[in-house]
Amino acid sequence: MTTLDACDLNDPVSRQAFDAIVVDDPRVTDLALLRSAPDDKTTPIFLNSQDAKDHPLADGGLPDDLATVLTKARARQDKNALLQDQSSEAVVLSWLWHLDTRTVAPVIDLSRPEIYRYPVLDMLGVEAANTWLVRACQRELIIPISVIDRTRNCATCASAHLNYVDRCPYCDALDIKREQAIHCFTCGFVGEQGLFRRAERLICPKCDTALKHIGTDYDRPIERMRCCGCGERFNDPRIKATCLECGTINAQTDLQTHTFRSYGLGPAGEALLKGGRSPEDQVRAFGEAVGPEQFLWTLSWLNSMARSNSVVARVDILDQPEVSDQDRARTQSLRDQIGSLLPETAVLHYRDPNTIMVLFPEQGQDQTKEFVQRIKSIGDAQKNSPLKLTVDAITLPQPRIGPDARGWLDRFADKAN
Ligand SMILES: [Zn+2]
Ligand SMILES: [Zn+2]
Ligand SMILES: [Zn+2]
Repeated sequence: MTTLDACDLNDPVSRQAFDAIVVDDPRVTDLALLRSAPDDKTTPIFLNSQDAKDHPLADGGLPDDLATVLTKARARQDKNALLQDQSSEAVVLSWLWHLDTRTVAPVIDLSRPEIYRYPVLDMLGVEAANTWLVRACQRELIIPISVIDRTRNCATCASAHLNYVDRCPYCDALDIKREQAIHCFTCGFVGEQGLFRRAERLICPKCDTALKHIGTDYDRPIERMRCCGCGERFNDPRIKATCLECGTINAQTDLQTHTFRSYGLGPAGEALLKGGRSPEDQVRAFGEAVGPEQFLWTLSWLNSMARSNSVVARVDILDQPEVSDQDRARTQSLRDQIGSLLPETAVLHYRDPNTIMVLFPEQGQDQTKEFVQRIKSIGDAQKNSPLKLTVDAITLPQPRIGPDARGWLDRFADKAN
């Protein structure tokens, strides 16, 4: 096996001749350079040094059965139907398929507000990695393998850089302290133990009673903390999370969570790699919704009828790029709600998990008006949610649908992005 030197790394022609690259000195820049090369983003990179075998951009140490691994990788490369497809989605799927050991996994990066990032996705050109993962997962292009970690995130800015501090539950002050208090049964005075000490005895500072027996003369209140700001006593301080990025003091119940998982190739992803991109594969149908081809056909057909009472509408669920666990659940619930609003004659199609397309074949304008109204009230109910709903509707016929319905629908779908 030939080892490349730093000079050869810049020469794509010489690199293409290799089934795998073995790197002796895995400096981050070299591996990033290798992985970002346009021609061989999927080439196995094995590390020869013991201490760097789990580098996220490499494929670990040299496998014992190297010849078998490479033969299999070459065979997959030869039948990879997405090989010429330079979209980041195709490149990630090809990368995953190339070696069985590969997963898209998060690594800690403290320079990022969200603490974790997916280096392979960054390297393979995926923008908005979290959103991409959610959508690819829903289409079963990839499947979750294991949960790596769960972070709690600021409700305002989604940062996971939080400082948890205990505060006074009455006035939120930070200056609280633990104390041993005494409660005098004679006069009812409650104060810190130090106030009662005189020589070796306990004497109430208010009524001068000598307190000899706990339970008879005095007891100790359960509240063991005292606020130096407002003077209140309490048992349990209130834990709050101060955001180190934006300064918001979050109640624990307000924090969002984000579950970071590792992912492998999913059934739809494998089908795509083996069979290529047939139009039906582009989007999977959900529930009662129709597939993309049927939607497209119905759109063209309605358009050709030219009766001016059909409407095509698009609802976008706009989420934040961080996509918290709560956002994922909310998106699902919104989709269910929107689906349930439609009259029976409407044709529903999920273009992707956040984009819903609807055809109203009859009384389109009236039905759309009502639909938009109801979407608006669902949107208003989401006021405290980071998700936003937008709706756009166009009356048929449209002259441009006739010659190129697919292109027209693509442009209509992309308007929100
Ligand atoms: Zn207080
Ligand atoms: Zn007393
Ligand atoms: Zn924040």
